[in-house]
Amino acid sequence: MVKTLPKTDVVIAGVGWSGGIIAAELTKAGLNVVGLERGKERKTEDYFMVHDELRYALRYELFQDLSKETITFRSNEKIRALPMRSYGSFLIGTGLGGSGVHWNGHTYRFLPYDFQIRSKTIERYGKNKLPPGMSIQDWGITYDELEPYYDKFEKTAGISGSPNPLGGKRSNPYPTPPMKKSPSLQKFTDVATRLNLHPYPLPSANLSENYTNPDGIARVACQYCGYCERFGCEYGAKADPVVTVIPVANKTGKFEIRSHSDVRRVIHKGGKATGVMYIDVTTGEEIIQPADIVVVASYVFNNTRLLLLSGLGKPYDPSTGKGAIGKNYAYQVVKGGAAGFFEKEQFNTYAGAGALGVSLDDYNGDNFDHSNLNFIHGGVITLAQAGARPIQNNPVPSGTATWGKEFKANSLKYANQSLSIGSQGSSMSYQHHYLDLDPTYKDAFGDPLIRITFDFEEQDRELAKFLALKSSEIMKEMGADHIDYLKDLGPYEIMTYQSTHNTGGVIMGANAGDSAINNYCQMWDADNVFVVGASSFPQNAGYNPTNTVGALAYRTAEGILSYRKKGGLLV
Ligand SMILES: Cc1cc2nc3c(=O)[nH]c(=O)nc-3n(C[C@H](O)[C@H](O)[C@H](O)COP(=O)(O)OP(=O)(O)OC[C@H]3O[C@@H](n4cnc5c(N)ncnc54)[C@H](O)[C@@H]3O)c2cc1C
Ligand code: SF4
Repeated sequence: MVKTLPKTDVVIAGVGWSGGIIAAELTKAGLNVVGLERGKERKTEDYFMVHDELRYALRYELFQDLSKETITFRSNEKIRALPMRSYGSFLIGTGLGGSGVHWNGHTYRFLPYDFQIRSKTIERYGKNKLPPGMSIQDWGITYDELEPYYDKFEKTAGISGSPNPLGGKRSNPYPTPPMKKSPSLQKFTDVATRLNLHPYPLPSANLSENYTNPDGIARVACQYCGYCERFGCEYGAKADPVVTVIPVANKTGKFEIRSHSDVRRVIHKGGKATGVMYIDVTTGEEIIQPADIVVVASYVFNNTRLLLLSGLGKPYDPSTGKGAIGKNYAYQVVKGGAAGFFEKEQFNTYAGAGALGVSLDDYNGDNFDHSNLNFIHGGVITLAQAGARPIQNNPVPSGTATWGKEFKANSLKYANQSLSIGSQGSSMSYQHHYLDLDPTYKDAFGDPLIRITFDFEEQDRELAKFLALKSSEIMKEMGADHIDYLKDLGPYEIMTYQSTHNTGGVIMGANAGDSAINNYCQMWDADNVFVVGASSFPQNAGYNPTNTVGALAYRTAEGILSYRKKGGLLV
């Protein structure tokens, strides 16, 4: 029998950065909040001395168990999708703090162009610049409107950096100074400056110095341990929800975290949610948690899936482009980098931090003329030094055998004599790239898995080649003796890790016709449901997403407090 609990003010499905920020802001304002998290609780002590690359980086200790729940993937609508049975292209977080626990901490702001991409592109290049099928749209919010919320997230996390010379206006400097620059980062900076580019320190959520944030949370500086991406931080130096926002919510006495609680449905009636139904995965018990307001913060895939499973909002129909839930799934184009091999120089890149690096935006957004190019937008170019760990660090120049004596010799030789410039190409949305419920495959509870239909387009192929060429030019100037870079992108494949920067599915916009939520992440079709995370991005930018996710979560919290007073749609 289903158990029904007493009503709460707000229930949140998923407690990562999105859910954690909202919990902190609402409980500080006096609301009672229940956070339902399907994974386990976590704390900094869990990561003491766990520099175990095999366990965390290769066996994915902190990630969703794909044997219980996964996604299915196909490259177009004509073929059957198959389940992702082992990790490849991206990783999916689980547990308290979500992916915020094992992220790198690259904390960029999107460019002003990103938020008005459709109108700005048409204004500068004309309507014909957008190829048939590309379904990009303005966000319904501008950079200037979001700026105060970026500022808030950066202060909470203590972001270390100095301003991007080609970025949007800032109301304040970064709360902490940039991280240290290693010799290879200094070399990249010098070379980029010589090439008349505009390098700046990668904005980092790994603290450059001890810091106390506006909520009174004190954290210590990063030790450059190099076991950051895919690992939790044993010092609390990496900003994550467990060491920043969740303690603030807990301290109010108004936040109840229920871990091992897998939300299955948003319950609704007459255009309003009445609560959620979840399963206590330790007992199998079905439980209803009634609430005045429901916040869905369970990442791109489950945000979309929960709404589709719950029959909330209009499912997207790719044949007409109508409907909203599942619309505009986008990803990223990360193969436009360049690997450089040096015969005489050593770089000692085994030391590093998740977000240690130098970036430039000369080829990002609309910072350069696209009139004679077959693509729009661009991507950030970065030399990062995250820490080359012993198992996965096997850089060998092209032409080296993939196993045996030659491979061993070259991988030893170049372990310390190679550098890699990376790029994160933006990803535009298309009518036939979307998420829906898989008709065949189900999760451990018997619910359909979410299905991705996606492939790279001409836009992506051109962009990747362009960024790879630019990266190789910088690498050449850095003096590499051998340079490998992409010549042809090929189709998207789900086996190789690229980035966990999936976006879309529950997108925001200026009106209900072309989006699922408004710019407070409030559902047009159910005004007491707020859906937060990168699912709200109408297309993807040329950066990592989390600063924008955090900023939107702060704005959503403000919206919920105002909704609590006035009711109705906030826009
Ligand atoms: C290895 C890695 C490195 C990354 N590095 C960067 C970086 O450097 N910079 C950057 O900007 N971004 C980075 N990201 C992405 C970043 O981690 C995410 O953008 C961010 O954490 C998203 O926060 P979120 O709260 O929206 O979602 P999540 O962190 O995914 O949190 C969602 C939570 O919901 C829970 N959940 C899901 N379904 C249910 C359900 N049905 N019921 C209850 N709970 C549920 C999950 O368990 C999870 O805890 C990285 C990601 C990975 C995996
Ligand atoms: S690199 Fe710095 S922030 Fe990252 S895990 Fe190590 S000490 Fe923590």
